[in-house]
Amino acid sequence: MPSINHISTNIVHGVLYIVPTPIGNFSDITQRALIILKDVDLIAVENIYHTHILLKNFNINNHLILINQKNENKQTDKIIKKLKLGKKIALVSNAGTPVINDPGFILIKSCHKNKIRVIPLPGACAAITALSASGISSNRFCYEGFLPTKKIARCNLLRSLRKEIRTIIFYETPHRILKSVTDIIKEIGTERNLVLVKEISKYWEYIFSGTSYELLSWLQQDINHCKGEMVLIIEGFQNLSNNVLTQEVYDTLYLIQKEISLKKAVTLTSKIYKIKKNILYNYAINHFK
Ligand code: SAM
Repeated sequence: MPSINHISTNIVHGVLYIVPTPIGNFSDITQRALIILKDVDLIAVENIYHTHILLKNFNINNHLILINQKNENKQTDKIIKKLKLGKKIALVSNAGTPVINDPGFILIKSCHKNKIRVIPLPGACAAITALSASGISSNRFCYEGFLPTKKIARCNLLRSLRKEIRTIIFYETPHRILKSVTDIIKEIGTERNLVLVKEISKYWEYIFSGTSYELLSWLQQDINHCKGEMVLIIEGFQNLSNNVLTQEVYDTLYLIQKEISLKKAVTLTSKIYKIKKNILYNYAINHFK
């Protein structure tokens, strides 16, 4: 039930508002975000240019201070001093929810240490918006941010996630998506279900849903498929220890894959027993040596 914000009386300092901004469509900004951005004494921004465009669109004129990965320590001290003087400050990033793979963590931690009130506003976040549309279970999920840029680190991380049963969310970039999906196939398999959610709330918004192998083929089809802002969602490892795989299915798959490639063995077994290929494939790569 929406309500008017209750302000606690025992905090004497200023307030830091965490204000999410749209991840594409400016209409997604909330009424409350606009009120706060107009009302505060200062807005701490990741990038002056980006925020200036947003504010201009809503006819908001306010003072801005830069806070980014390079200057966060120094700027935190400055901002905390202002908050202690009773100023109201809003924190915004270039898009989406600040601190979610964006600057602000040091500042927020310091606010808590200094007993300065932090008020988070609900709003856009690419990871959660993508998850909501993915068609992959969202009962349990983990957010992993961006995959490491170095191949070895990327493969190590993916290998460590091979048996993760929760849905896994990654942020991805156009120049790395092909490498990442190739490594996902190498470390997790060809049959894991993935969903790539691109350009949310923008003109080229698109959702691709399929196995890791199908996603790689789709990306390779057209250079444009790799473009845009994107979130990659990986279905968690399906634990097969019980009901689906009987000893008979296991034996069949095991014997066939000794004679032909694992991929073909999985396809055949899947046809014989009407079991999803990704279930059989995941089982095989985790149990057969
Ligand atoms: N703080 C932001 C949030 O709450 O989503 C995320 C910032 S992170 C630096 C930027 C990444 O978010 C992009 O590389 C992309 O993976 C994802 N992203 C941002 N906007 C998006 C959009 N409109 N569609 C899909 N992914 C998006």
